[in-house]
Amino acid sequence: MVWKEVKGMRRIEIFDTTLRDGEQSPGVALNADEKLQIAHQLSKLGVNVLEAGFPIASPGDFEGVRRIAQEVRNVSVAALARANAKDIERAWEAISGAESPRIHTFIATSPIHMLYKLQKSPDDVLEQAIQAVRLAKSKVSDIEFSAEDASRSDVDFLAKVFSGVIQAGATVLNIPDTVGYATPEEYAAFLQSIMERTVGIEKVKVSVHCHNDLGLAVANSLAAVGVGVHQLECTVNGIGERAGNAALEELVMALHTRKDQFNVETSIVTAEIARTSQLVSRLTGMMIQHNKAIVGKNAFAHESGIHQDGMLKERSTYEIMSPSVIGIDVESIVLGKHSGRHAVQQRLADLGLNLEEGRFEELFSRFKLLADRKKEVTTSDLFSLADEQKEKTDLINLDYLQVSSGTHLVPTATVGLMFQGQRLADAACGDGPVDAAFKAIDKVLGTQGELIHYSLQALDGGEDAQGEVTVSVKFGENLVAGRGVSTDIIEASVRGYLQAVNRAFSRGWIEILEKNES
Ligand SMILES: [Zn+2]
Repeated sequence: MVWKEVKGMRRIEIFDTTLRDGEQSPGVALNADEKLQIAHQLSKLGVNVLEAGFPIASPGDFEGVRRIAQEVRNVSVAALARANAKDIERAWEAISGAESPRIHTFIATSPIHMLYKLQKSPDDVLEQAIQAVRLAKSKVSDIEFSAEDASRSDVDFLAKVFSGVIQAGATVLNIPDTVGYATPEEYAAFLQSIMERTVGIEKVKVSVHCHNDLGLAVANSLAAVGVGVHQLECTVNGIGERAGNAALEELVMALHTRKDQFNVETSIVTAEIARTSQLVSRLTGMMIQHNKAIVGKNAFAHESGIHQDGMLKERSTYEIMSPSVIGIDVESIVLGKHSGRHAVQQRLADLGLNLEEGRFEELFSRFKLLADRKKEVTTSDLFSLADEQKEKTDLINLDYLQVSSGTHLVPTATVGLMFQGQRLADAACGDGPVDAAFKAIDKVLGTQGELIHYSLQALDGGEDAQGEVTVSVKFGENLVAGRGVSTDIIEASVRGYLQAVNRAFSRGWIEILEKNES
């Protein structure tokens, strides 16, 4: 497909908040290593600003932000802080090692939030916002100020707050639709009237941050581009609180595919989109719906005969974007049991899966085992194998699994786990083999997980596809996700459950009873 070449286009900055707002999705909890892995990929993807977290929220959040600030380059690293001294000090402590640090401070400005949440008068809110920006400015030059629930705020009051924070040193003003209530035309008009009333607006960048409660996050963000905003805030796969945030891949591909309409460009390396989307889905345990725009499994699939016929004659009959633009390689090399070390190594390198020294041999032997169990080892299979190698650092690992179930049998499972060099095992009965296996794990470890969500799907098409299980498990008050992949669906379930257990354990949410060595 030929794109219309437009010279001297305005550049829109992409502010990614997958690791902050996205990480606030119910059931998602990433550890510092996982955050760092996503952050490196976001830098490769070419986002301009990466919001790494909310340092005051917990020591784990702080550590994640600090490591990203120190290790990830070629991107601005932002940390979130409420408009108070404690939050701002902590945020600065976390990001001071970044190449270009940004403090992102916020306070709510809508009557409903000021009255019920903050219990503060508008004058107090204005004063607090100015003080916060002043303090942040004493530490770093790049300051983003967000007016939480801006879209339901009074225009004149908002303009007064924005004028004040610009004078105090803010460099970016964010005007979010926090509750996902706006509609595109209304939002664009609203943004325009704020910009007209704000003193000093020409000195700063204007940003939007849209939520998807009515499915309008992307539409609202694009409407904002039309009135000249400079920065779009979004998350990979659109993950986030409730219905999520504007999806990065949808925004970027809309701007890219319809340059003729928007006349702007971004710095995103579109060929990294598919890889980034898969990484975020795997690590967060948030599956991508099949018909999701751009990155869904069906986004480039053509099923009906009429479409297939058209596609064979000329791809552009039904395809407005080529899958290769987002990094999906249709004609990838097929790996199977005859593939050697070199072919596997090459494919891993092509996929950007660089394993640590010594880890490749382990992966290769797992690859051989898998290739014996299925004809073709696909890209998704390789990603899972690489994940498994990374998870070797988990504290609790599956040693063996044995299940018996059938029409007239009580489903029973025996699970052996390795924990701190010890082999622990126990057996349990359950309503089905998966339930029995989960109960056996809880018995071994002395944990009590409550299964909130369970889903099973084929990792790829085809009759010998591996099963991919995602679970959400509640340990006490904490919800955590896990994902497991295997040719055996019970084993995939157990691996998913164990991943959730490992995550809960590494966050100190559960204790493991030291007992019954067997
Ligand atoms: Zn948000």
